[in-house]
Amino acid sequence: DQCASGWDNSPVSATLERLAGRWLLEILDLPRDSTVGFGTSATACTLSCLVTARRELLLRQGWDIDQDGLAGAPEIRVVVSEMTHITVKKALRVLGFGLRHLHVAPVNGRGQIDVTRLPVLDHRTILCLQAGEVNTGEFDDFSALIPAAHAVGAWVHVDGAFGLWARASALKALTEGVEKADSWTTDGHKWLNTPYDCAMAICRHPGALSTAMNADAAYSVASQDAQKNLTLEFSRRPRGIPVWAALRTLGREGVATMVEQHCALALQIASGLQDTGFEILN
Ligand SMILES: *Cc1c(COP(=O)(O)O)cnc(C)c1O
Repeated sequence: DQCASGWDNSPVSATLERLAGRWLLEILDLPRDSTVGFGTSATACTLSCLVTARRELLLRQGWDIDQDGLAGAPEIRVVVSEMTHITVKKALRVLGFGLRHLHVAPVNGRGQIDVTRLPVLDHRTILCLQAGEVNTGEFDDFSALIPAAHAVGAWVHVDGAFGLWARASALKALTEGVEKADSWTTDGHKWLNTPYDCAMAICRHPGALSTAMNADAAYSVASQDAQKNLTLEFSRRPRGIPVWAALRTLGREGVATMVEQHCALALQIASGLQDTGFEILN
């Protein structure tokens, strides 16, 4: 019941969450100096990542959103997949992007963004990709899309609520190139099977997430990587501890086995359905 806002309030939480963040970056093979915030949900963590993305893109254009807000700010464009998850749309809507103003990337027959029909990207664009689409299980073509986005200065965010964990298994190839993105969201309460209220906002740019989410006050100054400076919550329980416990218990092999078994079972269900006359689309 300690308030896990930062080291001063709960050294044990700060230590375990720091360790959980490090292990997470290792098992998901993401840039090791990325920042990891443990929030309530992929919805909340996506919100944090998109806030960070918008703030950074505006900053690069000399606009200080913290002080000057959005009125009169350069427009930030958002490109989302036709199949983007409802919670990404919700985060964008809550942030004031306006659903009508989203640039929708058409998908191919498998549910991946069609690389040949991608809307225009530029240095004012946030491109939202997916690792694991809920209807088809599909992964966007990160190796093609992320370098193209970076070549023009766009920010790439990846919703990997469940699918990012494929990276910790023999199915890692599905996520090839995803490590080049600017930010990622994933859940603990899906494939890692932690209790609910456990998700992660991950950002590769040092200081970007912590500046966007900072909540320091005279009576409560904490380090950049204090969890209250990486998430929406100020008072919080240490959501990273279940991640630490799951990874400590399962280890790399345990996580890989869990993911691979689930995929084997999904294939078994698919083949059973096919036997009874269903058409399997993907
Ligand atoms: C479940 C899910 C989300 C939302 O995650 P919550 O933790 O429920 O907010 C977002 N994207 C995808 C692909 C999901 O499967």
